[in-house]
Amino acid sequence: MSDRKFIRNIDGKGPECPVCGHKGGCMISDDGWVVCLRVEKGAIRPIKSGMGWLHQLNGKAATKILSSLGIQRRQPPKLDFVTCAKMQRRFEQNMRECQKELDALSASLHLSSDSLRYFGIGRDLENERWTFPMFDCQQRGIGFRTRYADGRKTCVFGSNVGLFLRPSALNRRGVVYVPEGVTSAAAAMDCGYSSIGRPSAFGGWEMLPVLTALADKAVVCAENEGVKWRGPGQDDEPWWPGMEGALTCARYLAYHRVNTWFLRMPHDIKDMRDWKIKDEPAARSSVNHAEKVTVEWLNAATDRLKRTRELFRRAGRGHFEKVLTSDMVTT
Ligand SMILES: [Zn+2]
Repeated sequence: MSDRKFIRNIDGKGPECPVCGHKGGCMISDDGWVVCLRVEKGAIRPIKSGMGWLHQLNGKAATKILSSLGIQRRQPPKLDFVTCAKMQRRFEQNMRECQKELDALSASLHLSSDSLRYFGIGRDLENERWTFPMFDCQQRGIGFRTRYADGRKTCVFGSNVGLFLRPSALNRRGVVYVPEGVTSAAAAMDCGYSSIGRPSAFGGWEMLPVLTALADKAVVCAENEGVKWRGPGQDDEPWWPGMEGALTCARYLAYHRVNTWFLRMPHDIKDMRDWKIKDEPAARSSVNHAEKVTVEWLNAATDRLKRTRELFRRAGRGHFEKVLTSDMVTT
């Protein structure tokens, strides 16, 4: 399955292991995996011989570390539809022996196992991780998001980024929620709403118009996962991916004549799953709080975002909730 080669033995002369910081013995591959002999924490699993642990560096860090070692990061060949369909069948078959683990996952996430199954949850036994298929706008599988026991998320090697959805539900009418991530999408399902999950704050929206064209209401959910900072010192300019990504998505859908609505989470709620956990009745009737997206609404929302950003900038780090509850933002 994998043609991964660990091409560089870090043998005491070379650079440090990106995981343990030591110079001897650990290995790195040109696609960003490390076999570290010393550190178990954060590892995906022990290697077969038991002599070390397999780690996966995340995309940007991998590129940076590899280039500092003089290695050009090898980009994986992209998964095709046929391969994805085969993998999905295998991952779903594996679920037969994972009922107990699924129950535990469902309890820890406060999501029903039915909703997780609706989004095609599977099990990659070799790497001991959960898999969720991602789809393109023609509802063909194009990749997999994965989730490890400790909550870490990555993708199956070679995945394209796509939407979390149920392919059979082609003609989505009624209300369709469009939150961020598969667990939020499952939470929306648990609250009685049909849903399609975006892969990230800024991803996937270009595939959505065709999938929501028939919906009576496409409800874009803006998450409150906090503010990020960027700029020369990483703390000059605040930005708010959950809100900014949702606005971009809503603007795009409205432009494509989808009947688009916008749902802001209450200030103390992170996302749909958090809402379901803290106040399920309110989450179940959340569609009543959605606002219709029009040109006027978009202009007002863009102004509000500018004001909010300015408040974040003035308040500095660590005042996310305080800013969200200030009058200038809520009105
Ligand atoms: Zn190491």
